[in-house]
Amino acid sequence: MLEARRHETVLEVNLDALVGNFNLMRSLVKPTTGVVAMVKAGGYGAGSYELAKTLQAQGASYLAVAVADEGVELRNRGITMPIMVLNPKVTNYRTLFRYGLEPEIYSFDILDQIICQAERQGMNGFPIHIKIDSGMHRLGFLLEDMPRLVSTLQKHKAVSPCSVFSHLAAADCPDMDSYTALQFDYFDSCCKQLQAGFGHHIMRHILNSVGIARFPDHQFDMVRLGICLYGISPLELPQLAGLKPVSTLRTVIISIKTWNDGTTIGYGRRGVVAKESRIATLPIGYADGLNRHLGCGRGAVFINGCRCPIVGSICMDVCMVDVTGCECEVGDAVEIFGRNITADEVAGLLDTIPYEVLTSVSQRVKRVYY
Ligand code: PLP
Repeated sequence: MLEARRHETVLEVNLDALVGNFNLMRSLVKPTTGVVAMVKAGGYGAGSYELAKTLQAQGASYLAVAVADEGVELRNRGITMPIMVLNPKVTNYRTLFRYGLEPEIYSFDILDQIICQAERQGMNGFPIHIKIDSGMHRLGFLLEDMPRLVSTLQKHKAVSPCSVFSHLAAADCPDMDSYTALQFDYFDSCCKQLQAGFGHHIMRHILNSVGIARFPDHQFDMVRLGICLYGISPLELPQLAGLKPVSTLRTVIISIKTWNDGTTIGYGRRGVVAKESRIATLPIGYADGLNRHLGCGRGAVFINGCRCPIVGSICMDVCMVDVTGCECEVGDAVEIFGRNITADEVAGLLDTIPYEVLTSVSQRVKRVYY
């Protein structure tokens, strides 16, 4: 138990679990395959700098962030390893050059712009990463774009394709594996055309976390490791059984009162106690990322070995839970999600995915690393 959590709502981040998960996932890939650690969205909510520092020390090949500002922060705090930026804005190429942040290039529009800026800045071979749309149908070049892509890149040496990659739409949907197979074939055809146009090897990568576990024949030169790094698997697979949750959202009990049968709790009087009950108040609300849809008995928290249902509506900064029958007092620790109530379970209650639960913890919640 961390001391900090006695006083406030905190997101505890277990860096040993992160390292364990990284090594477990790395054991599933060939020694020659690099690992891109996805630390976008503030390290899936856990805070990207501390994670990046740990992963740099562990020998990850690349970090991937979503926007340039995330990469700038990492550089300013001393992260020196290669960083990929997946959603570069067309306006911030100078920032990318200055901080050595390598952009994903997904259209001729942004390719032309980066070439223009790179030539103006006198760059030579600035690394870029070519995104192929093999079936996700959101961003990326298509097979018919390959000849123009090759000729453009051959003509302009200010930038240089360092990798070519794509993203699977349904890696965690075994009933859609035939679609995934089509994505692999499409990606392969694009890679072959691209590679044929260049003298140097261009790294290829397509697998995300579940893809790493399910499609070992398609590891290529790198894999992109996201949710499993954080100890969560969207599919139950024996090879992922050793993953441990990295993030635990905790708070403390700040008040306990006993109320008679029929007393109402909170806004709209939506919580009603059915019998004499002990109701605890916790300093965590929807502004901290505790989704309001978990109120009125849908969600629960974990206190001293008991699951305690959330009573009434979750407020902006606090919520109330029923601790009748649970031995607890003011100051006791409360787990919102982590090991006993998993982010996956919470996601299920909210009809969403654990990615959203992890990344919804708001910035006012202090991250504590251990
Ligand atoms: N690659 C890309 C392009 C992504 O957008 C993501 C996640 O959003 C990942 C890899 C990592 O996926 P996962 O977290 O499922 O491993």
